[in-house]
Amino acid sequence: EQAMLMARHEPDRMRLCGDFPVAPGIDPADLLAAIHAGQLEMHLQPVLDIRRKAVIGAEALARWTHPVRGVVSPAVFVPVAENSGMISQFTRWAINASLQHAAEARAQGLALTISMNLSATAFAERGLVEQILGALRLWDAAPRDLVVEVTETAIVADLQRGAVQLKRLNAEGIRVSIDDFGVGNASVAYLKQFPATEMKIDQSFVTHMLGDLRSMQLVKAMIGFAHTMGMRVVAEGVEDTDTLQALADLNCNLAQGYGIGRPQPAAEFIAEFARNR
Ligand code: C2E
Ligand code: MG
Ligand code: MG
Ligand code: MG
Repeated sequence: EQAMLMARHEPDRMRLCGDFPVAPGIDPADLLAAIHAGQLEMHLQPVLDIRRKAVIGAEALARWTHPVRGVVSPAVFVPVAENSGMISQFTRWAINASLQHAAEARAQGLALTISMNLSATAFAERGLVEQILGALRLWDAAPRDLVVEVTETAIVADLQRGAVQLKRLNAEGIRVSIDDFGVGNASVAYLKQFPATEMKIDQSFVTHMLGDLRSMQLVKAMIGFAHTMGMRVVAEGVEDTDTLQALADLNCNLAQGYGIGRPQPAAEFIAEFARNR
């Protein structure tokens, strides 16, 4: 809170919170107010089981509709939350919103696994695991209903602390997914430290893999690597059916991308999913 008060008095053009510049024009105080005022919402993007040709889950992606700026990307406002001391407030909201939507889907009789993103700084907070377990109880959700996505960068930020918490989540039956695999600055050695159950291959390898042999080879190698490690694989950024077919041929397990479905407001997603079941 003190960091936020300080940020408010700094010039708007270039703020430094911690070591990182915060996106110009985004006032951390506005973000905190938006969290409290319920102006953030989760969109859901379908996750397809390639072999079964069925949507089995959805990734929760945060959206902030700013009264003046319009929709602000989470790629912009999540770092603002991280660098201005309000990641715990944001994370609490995100955990709650994700599990609320899981409960709404279940109330419609839909079996959906919700994947949520956790940022590096969320792992620096104490009580993260308890918070997640508490929210599962609150929304009467099973650990299997939730997948926690972390980036390689988040894992290396504090490997010891991160690994302890990820192990605990895993022991509770919550699946752990490594997001944006292949573009972080970690080495694969971290896979010795904790049990990841899923690998998400970054879209930068997937989207244009049909026109780029090196990308295709890397995707193939990453799928083999994940399977050897006992992980299932999600390909991100699948934008067309030819790519989906190629991923099927490579035994990729799951796929996500605009070609399968765009992120949409949770209520819309659940209603459409219920109609098409
Ligand atoms: P991510 O977790 O890797 O999410 C995938 C991003 O790729 C999403 O962007 C999604 O809309 C986009 N995407 C999905 N399919 C396609 C496709 O076919 N083509 C292309 N070009 N893009 C596609 P989005 O929603 O803007 O989110 C960006 C990042 O912000 C996320 O990357 C995630 O790291 C972060 N983020 C989003 N929501 C949350 C959250 O609730 N908490 C935290 N900590 N981070 C979040
Ligand atoms: Mg993700
Ligand atoms: Mg990703
Ligand atoms: Mg990404």
